Amino acid sequence: MLDTSVEYLKGVGSQRADLLRQELDISTFEDVLFHFPYRYFDRTRLNKISDINAQSDWVQMIGTLANITEEGEGRRRRLTATFYNDTGRIELVWFQGVQWLKNSLQEHKNYVIFGKVSFFNGQPNIPHPEIEPLHADTVKSGLQPVYPTTEKLKVKGISNRSFAKITQSLFEKISASEIPEILPPYLLSNYNLCHRYAAFKWIHFPDTDEHLQEARHRLKWEELFISQLKIAQLRLQHTRQVGFIFNHVGDHFNHFFREHLPFDLTHAQKRVLREIRTDTTTGKQMNRLVQGDVGSGKTIVALMSMLLALDNGFQACLMAPTEILAQQHFQGISELLRPMNISCALLKGSIKGKERKEILSGLAKGNIQLAVGTHALIEDAVQFANLGLAVIDEQHRFGVGQRARLWQKNTIPPHILVMTATPIPRTLAMTLYGDLDVSVIDELPPGREEIKTVHRNEMSRAGVMQFIKAEIAKGRQAYIVYPLIEESEKLDYESLTVGYEQVRSWFPEHSYRICMVHGRQDAAERERNMQRFVSGEADILVATTVIEVGVNVPNASVMVIESAERFGLSQLHQLRGRVGRGSEQSYCILLTGSQLSKESAQRMNIMTSTSDGFVIAEEDLKMRGPGDLYGTKQSGMIKFKIADIVQDIALVEQTRTAAQQLLSQDSQLTQIQHLPLRTMLSRNKAQSAWSKIS
Ligand code: ADP
Ligand code: MG
Repeated sequence: MLDTSVEYLKGVGSQRADLLRQELDISTFEDVLFHFPYRYFDRTRLNKISDINAQSDWVQMIGTLANITEEGEGRRRRLTATFYNDTGRIELVWFQGVQWLKNSLQEHKNYVIFGKVSFFNGQPNIPHPEIEPLHADTVKSGLQPVYPTTEKLKVKGISNRSFAKITQSLFEKISASEIPEILPPYLLSNYNLCHRYAAFKWIHFPDTDEHLQEARHRLKWEELFISQLKIAQLRLQHTRQVGFIFNHVGDHFNHFFREHLPFDLTHAQKRVLREIRTDTTTGKQMNRLVQGDVGSGKTIVALMSMLLALDNGFQACLMAPTEILAQQHFQGISELLRPMNISCALLKGSIKGKERKEILSGLAKGNIQLAVGTHALIEDAVQFANLGLAVIDEQHRFGVGQRARLWQKNTIPPHILVMTATPIPRTLAMTLYGDLDVSVIDELPPGREEIKTVHRNEMSRAGVMQFIKAEIAKGRQAYIVYPLIEESEKLDYESLTVGYEQVRSWFPEHSYRICMVHGRQDAAERERNMQRFVSGEADILVATTVIEVGVNVPNASVMVIESAERFGLSQLHQLRGRVGRGSEQSYCILLTGSQLSKESAQRMNIMTSTSDGFVIAEEDLKMRGPGDLYGTKQSGMIKFKIADIVQDIALVEQTRTAAQQLLSQDSQLTQIQHLPLRTMLSRNKAQSAWSKIS
């Protein structure tokens, strides 16, 4: 029943079904069930307009519209209206969907609005409030669900009220038996959870606030529990997985360590290498995560682990998230290994034809011992003679699925080493990497100066450019980075080229060499430009965030981040990590507009007051929520529908314990009381496999 197409619900039909699928990925009854309200309209909690003051935040009010007016043109086009009731009046303003709002809003009619108060020229107003006609049933009962929706659905007439009706007709069609309990009774009673059917019913149509809270608790618990169960199962699989034994530390490793290592390893690097070495002698497969802040020296740990694999007659590979990074790893590693007799190859998507064929055959025959590459390495066409270790750099760009594909590159899965420069808060780590053992490089190589970070606004631009000149005069190089946000790629590209012209005007061609790197260049051009900067041929690199991860130019001492207010904290930290890689004092300059929102100002403050990646990651998680953090949204690793791993830390821990306990009793979920869970998990698995294909 729950797999039935949403089309067959009363009030939907094929056209609306298409829209729902396109806009919200809702295609079945079950999807409707899981389309949870994100807040509730509570008739008993209305704000008075007369109470609004500078401290006001979100408000909900009932009132009437007057003076609906369109103002401005082009980008400044907006719709304003006066909203009033017997407690006062306030201005509303919309910048988007003006046409549609103009057509659908009516003066002298009653509406419910919900929005955040702001002040403009000392007057309170509400920009972009949610607005809905006041219906009889809105007034009648207690808590009305408010559903997440999109502009397009609203324009097409699927209002919040329509959602409520669709959900209503769903509950008319299904009975409690269609939503059976999946948790065993002892969990329900131990953790005080309400029944599954009741939870779904109450979350959509809460009769009381208590029931709503119970429902949310239960559904969050279930969601986190299932994710923890999957992780615990994966981990169990790992710990049972037979792995290669790297018995000896041989010539490659020792020779490199004694003769060619250009510096002494830090204690942290040594400790992590020992941990890796221990893992590879147990006869079980290693699945280890190495966390270390930017510049902590993860690459050398990766390289020496790969040498260990080579010493034991295996091949090794290193996979990086971008071509530039793969290229740089390849160059660095080839350089370090030059005096030794080791055959390395670089494999990336842009390598085609004969060259690619030769690399593939070299890997398959075992002539190539060490491969560096992008995700081109995990393609099916790539076969190894005997892969013993796979290193994945900057893991947050890759998903669990990609890790799994590396497993399949040998009859016994190779050891897996995952590296991330993004320090990950504990709860997130438990969710993202709960199946891995963790090592931490918590020490920077000696002689590093702390990067001086300052925040400047537009007005100080001349001074900033002067400063860059002074650094270049000392023989250093500088990065100037512009934001690139996918939705407005075109706009950003324009601002980048304008920025480039501006930089040009500050730094005349005859005395400064500037290169530019951005995502619209083809890989070859990008790499050529990047290479000019890496080799020191260019003084200034103007770039978008493509340089964010891993790129290493020790001579670069200045990082200027333009429109810094548009970056998230973790991203700023990553960018800043591109400098301070040599022994010279380095600088990070955050350039912003002069008017900053509270959140942006707070981010600039955090950046100028700490360089501790863990502190920054925690703050980032608090400020942004985990959704878009670390690119996990794209990789679909932690898509929670209702749980929030920042707010629900306690539940993450609780469900983790519960999942581990359950598996320790019944690792294969064969007890009758666990069968529904087993069915659920295998269904999930089938679904995710399917979504990969599509
Ligand atoms: P990340 O952890 O960000 O990947 P890298 O591995 O790129 O850092 O190392 C950053 C820089 O520090 C490189 O230039 C590297 O050669 C250097 N480095 C690494 N380990 C040490 C060390 N123990 N002593 C001195 N320099 C080191
Ligand atoms: Mg790195």
